Amino acid sequence: MEGGDQEERRTDEPRERRPLFEATADALRAWVVEQGHQAYRVRQIHHWAFHRRAESFEAMTDLPLDLRRRLAAEWSLFATEVAYHGASADGTDKLLLKCRDGRRIECVLMTEEHRRTVCVSTQVGCGMGCVFCASGLKGVERNLTTAEIVDQVLQAQNLLPAGESASHIVVMGMGESLANLDALLAALDRICSADDGLGMSQRRVTISTVGLPEKIRKLAARDRQYHLAVSLHAPTEELRNELVPVNEKVGLTAVIEAADDYFRITGRQVTYEYVMLGGVNDRHEHALALGRLLRGRKSHVNLIPYNPVSGLPFLRPDPDGVRRFVATLRDRGVSATVRKTKGQAIDAACGQLRRRFESAAVAEPAPISASVS
Ligand code: SAH
Repeated sequence: MEGGDQEERRTDEPRERRPLFEATADALRAWVVEQGHQAYRVRQIHHWAFHRRAESFEAMTDLPLDLRRRLAAEWSLFATEVAYHGASADGTDKLLLKCRDGRRIECVLMTEEHRRTVCVSTQVGCGMGCVFCASGLKGVERNLTTAEIVDQVLQAQNLLPAGESASHIVVMGMGESLANLDALLAALDRICSADDGLGMSQRRVTISTVGLPEKIRKLAARDRQYHLAVSLHAPTEELRNELVPVNEKVGLTAVIEAADDYFRITGRQVTYEYVMLGGVNDRHEHALALGRLLRGRKSHVNLIPYNPVSGLPFLRPDPDGVRRFVATLRDRGVSATVRKTKGQAIDAACGQLRRRFESAAVAEPAPISASVS
């Protein structure tokens, strides 16, 4: 067979085509101009992808046919495909997406009255090793690419009724967000761009981190309005070392100093997340210590009742204890709320769905739209 034929066939294979959202909008404009078309076509492409839910370049009917063909030959609109969709009666949808290398990543869509929030992952697995979390049980495999992060928002948005868009993003899925800061920011900036994305306000995006001080400062220096949530989980160095092993290297004080800097530089109030593990970090003494630690800071505490992970020894906290914990914090002038737990029926806590698939050794994805409510 001649080499030329082989070349031709290779370009036909989807795997060879670059994911569109790996390229910056400017790089795409340069490419479109190289193809002999006008740069404004890129804005049309983005409008189709983010607002009109095009599933292929072919469907972008106001683009010249020649450009659609060139696009389809060189780029792929999505970097992932839906491997599984679980829908729960409380308005939570969980998607398992299959990447080109066969790895699976999770994202969740939470629908409430006025909010349609997409929870996105930033890594396959996680290297932080928090002892209660399913994502880190097998360490980190790799960072997600920008296109794989953008994809999660587009794929989740496709589950919404026509005409509705994602209104908020929380970066609280699998992985340590700030360990993949560059790809994450490129994805979020694209999504928030009015011309080349969804036009989502930066203030509606929350980045959750285990608390990597240097990365927090790097993010603050980028001059964005993203909301920062820091996973604290313990009010003392000792207990945090036990629950969040990376704390041994970082230190609770350094995390809080970096969060203070984030607030000072961006003007955005920081949220502290605190997963409540029954009998471990949810006692009155912990509430008192947390109150002392955060008193006088303009921050907010989000208490998250533990979502049990099979095989891990932790328990959900007692609901009365949670109420007392909140009251203790508030009495000390520390703003605090309890997060509603959603999506338990579909393993919506980070890393749980992927884990269920892996432990069941499911070679091929379960049928799409399996309802498990
Ligand atoms: N690595 C980042 C973001 C991913 S986890 C971080 O640490 O913040 C998002 C939040 O969910 C974190 O606060 C994490 O501690 C919490 N979480 C993980 N497993 C959980 C579980 N089983 N139940 C409740 N919250 C959990």
